[in-house]
Amino acid sequence: MSHQTEAPSNFIHKIIEADIASGKHGGRVATRFPPEPNGYLHIGHAKSICLNFGLAVDFNGRCNLRFDDTNPHKENIEYVEAIQQDVRWLGFDWDDRLYYASDYFEQLYLYAVELINKGRAYVCDLDAEQVRDYRGTLTEPGRNSPYRERSVAENLELFARMRAGEFPDGAKVLRAKIDMASPNMNLRDPALYRIRHGVIHHQTGEAWCIYPLYDYTHPISDALEGITHSICTLEFEDHRPLYDWVLDHITIDCHPQQIEFSRLNLEHTVVSKRKLTQLVDDGHVEGWDDPRMPTLAGLRRRGYTPAAIRTFCERIGVSRADSLVEMALLENCIREDLNDIAPRRMAVLKPLKVVIENLAEGQVEELEVPNHPQQPALGTRRVPLSRVIYIDQDDFREEASKKFKRLVAGGEVRLRFAYVIRCDQVIKDAQGNVIELRCSYDPATLGADPAGRKVKGVIHWVSAAHAVPLEVRLYDRLFTHKTPDNAGGRDYRELLNPESLRTLTQAVGERSLAQARAGDRFQFEREGYFCLDGVLAAKDRQVFNRIVTLRDSWAKIEEQGG
Ligand code: ATP
Ligand code: MG
Repeated sequence: MSHQTEAPSNFIHKIIEADIASGKHGGRVATRFPPEPNGYLHIGHAKSICLNFGLAVDFNGRCNLRFDDTNPHKENIEYVEAIQQDVRWLGFDWDDRLYYASDYFEQLYLYAVELINKGRAYVCDLDAEQVRDYRGTLTEPGRNSPYRERSVAENLELFARMRAGEFPDGAKVLRAKIDMASPNMNLRDPALYRIRHGVIHHQTGEAWCIYPLYDYTHPISDALEGITHSICTLEFEDHRPLYDWVLDHITIDCHPQQIEFSRLNLEHTVVSKRKLTQLVDDGHVEGWDDPRMPTLAGLRRRGYTPAAIRTFCERIGVSRADSLVEMALLENCIREDLNDIAPRRMAVLKPLKVVIENLAEGQVEELEVPNHPQQPALGTRRVPLSRVIYIDQDDFREEASKKFKRLVAGGEVRLRFAYVIRCDQVIKDAQGNVIELRCSYDPATLGADPAGRKVKGVIHWVSAAHAVPLEVRLYDRLFTHKTPDNAGGRDYRELLNPESLRTLTQAVGERSLAQARAGDRFQFEREGYFCLDGVLAAKDRQVFNRIVTLRDSWAKIEEQGG
């Protein structure tokens, strides 16, 4: 993957530049990020956050955080709090501009009264099924509701009684009076308010039993906050005429421009709160912050840095074209970031015991080693070497071709930062499994090969007497299918990867890892980048999540038809 940074410019930048040049909105730029608190934020939201907050930074404007909380039965305060944490973690700040659509419930009610007074809204008694019937289809116009011509006075009275709680759920709705024959279905007298009893709203409690709908709430909330550019995803394009209709028919002195861009879709995962909620509720993952989840909470726990996610959002760009982004693009961003900043450590994932017979029992050599090969500023640490060490089972074979640069019976290999060892004896159990190697080290080889002898292979190792027990969690993609959302009619839950988590419980790390703290990230040499888990840390061992492998192994898996 190239290191070029995409020009930050995109079509929305161009619109805003033109607006500033023409003096529209008095040259101001105000955006908002408007999540519904009905789930945790995912990587798709990161795209919207980086875009909205990024525009505010680029144009010296401001960006509000606004909870779109008009649907209380699916929302709750846990999500409200998690969303704020995630936006902050990603590196953005709304200062004192934290808003809730529910802050505007009274004003929204009064604007609805204004619409009724102007003959632009009416109370309708059709039930949901009848409303569907009357709406018509894409090819046939709808029919007017029999309640459409109610008088203003009657509508005012009924709407007040709706608010007062006199009618049960579904008995009445307030509808805009627009055009039942419009080719745009969104303009066929859309509902503005519905009745919802018995829910306790996380902000307004039981103050309301009527709730405004999104398409009515959103433009007014934007206008009340003085938003200039209301940026949303493409599925709202057909709603834009309604957005404009609402603002054109009430008394309000701000008319933001709605601009749509295409959603982020990421291969091998789903980015829909509804589906992610289901994965959590059905126990397919360990929670919203499961390190396999595409949520910001999951990516954070996995060990992703906010910088890597921001870089990713920059690289995917913003356009109106449908896009499906490869997981490799996201992984390259974290790999590049961690390559520069992550201290190096040695950890053996599948230990094989090695006894260095010419090192005396109790003898310990403290080796001073750099924490990063290119970054002296990251300092050094001491790594102990003693008679019994562990190497990885994959780094030994009894016999192998010359291509195998690691240890073979009778052969030599260099221990990283230490000496060359020779394998003198292979010990096996009754089943013939190799369980131990007897080796000898050459004291003349510390740091350099002896004259006339080249030892090609270098392997990592851990001193047994100083080893820190580790549990290592290796993650793979959550779904086997590239587009689990859209898999020829198959349910995405059938496409979960049964091997998305592999847990290694016998791993060991070098002594210094005992000091690691939750969230610390390291490169385990030759193994990948790992992060100390903040949730699972057990008493007797450290739990590390593999963030990403050292190289892109996906391309290879895909070639093999995986
Ligand atoms: P979901 O389908 O996951 O529930 P949503 O659009 O309903 O997504 P909201 O909480 O309403 O979720 O989204 C807040 C903002 O984030 C909206 O402006 C929305 O357009 C944007 N957003 C949501 N998903 C994506 C995505 N995949 N790519 C880009 N922007 C997104
Ligand atoms: Mg939504």
